[in-house]
Amino acid sequence: MIIQRVVLNSRPGKNGVPVAENFRLEQSTIADIIQVGQVRVRTLYLSVDPYMRCRMNEDTGSDYLLPWQLSEVADGGGIGVVEESKKDNLAKGDFVTSFNWPWQTVAILDGSLLQKLDPQLVSGRLSYFLGAAGITGLTALLGIKEKGHVAVGANQTMVVSGAAGACGSLAGQIGRLEGCSRVVGIAGTDEKCSILVQEMGFDAAINYKKGDVAKQLRELCPGGVDVYFDNVGGDISDTVISQMNQNSHIILCGQISQYNKDVPYPPPLPPDIEKLRKERNITRERFLVLNYMDKQEASVLQLCQWIQEGKLKVRETVVEGLANIGVAFQSMMNGGNIGKQIVSVSK
Ligand code: NAP
Repeated sequence: MIIQRVVLNSRPGKNGVPVAENFRLEQSTIADIIQVGQVRVRTLYLSVDPYMRCRMNEDTGSDYLLPWQLSEVADGGGIGVVEESKKDNLAKGDFVTSFNWPWQTVAILDGSLLQKLDPQLVSGRLSYFLGAAGITGLTALLGIKEKGHVAVGANQTMVVSGAAGACGSLAGQIGRLEGCSRVVGIAGTDEKCSILVQEMGFDAAINYKKGDVAKQLRELCPGGVDVYFDNVGGDISDTVISQMNQNSHIILCGQISQYNKDVPYPPPLPPDIEKLRKERNITRERFLVLNYMDKQEASVLQLCQWIQEGKLKVRETVVEGLANIGVAFQSMMNGGNIGKQIVSVSK
């Protein structure tokens, strides 16, 4: 059977900015017959995520991420529909997902590595399982629960960087649902800031590309910052940490501003900020959602319930067509997305 697939065409280099041309669409073939235990799936949605930047390097710098190989098919979070099954618990028409879905239109996969999805949980919005009802939502929820020390009635102020992105937009809303009394976002455009306040219920948002971030933070967080959901690292984070209270908490979710640089993860803070962090006893522990997968099932149900009740507003930026996945990745890394960046592969 003839299929389309996307392979890694070139590496951007550890310190390079990734571009769409790092990926290449090509025609390939898969077997016509599947073996016992296998399923043939048609891809519906693919996820592009910041962590994939590390997989573009020969050495990902991480023990849980494998590098993509040149001229070999890329992979990541994906959703598809079963077209043929030789696996007991999977049948034609079932919707399934995997963290290692190949970037191709049709694939033969090991059925035991697939998770079955219930479309009713997301009112048929299957792509949510890659975002708000998937790893992204889990990252926001479990990051806050495990590292945020948020308590109802404690009058805490939360700041979120990368706030209009996939994790950030959910983290601010979940921070509020879990008990924060004030939530302030930091994002890269006025449009994003307006969506955060008008749609997502943030109290305020700061466009970090305009004006003085430190001054705006002081005005918008007069009692200081108690919880910082950090997606970006770098200068923005140094500015936020400088305004954090004694015994406050950083949720070290990601450091996207550092991903095109050859630095260790998590990148060390500048000495003056690290000194301040220690003096104020601010926690900054590494958080990796994959370490909490025993809480996946209950947490996904919680997220789906909030979505259905309208308590968690979800935004997606959807790019059509496998051929455009490189463009989608480049755009997300440059802030072109609002909410989760999804690639819709076929209808
Ligand atoms: P995302 O926010 O949807 O996309 C990245 C966003 O980051 C862009 O839209 C852009 O928006 C912002 N950005 C890009 N470069 C920036 C820079 N130099 N400075 C400031 N902001 C920048 O991505 P996501 O999926 O939600 O991921 C957010 C973070 O969470 C990433 O660091 C990711 O690695 C991390 N993550 C961690 C875990 C975990 O287990 N710890 C799991 C999933 C994701 P602007 O317009 O605002 O610049």
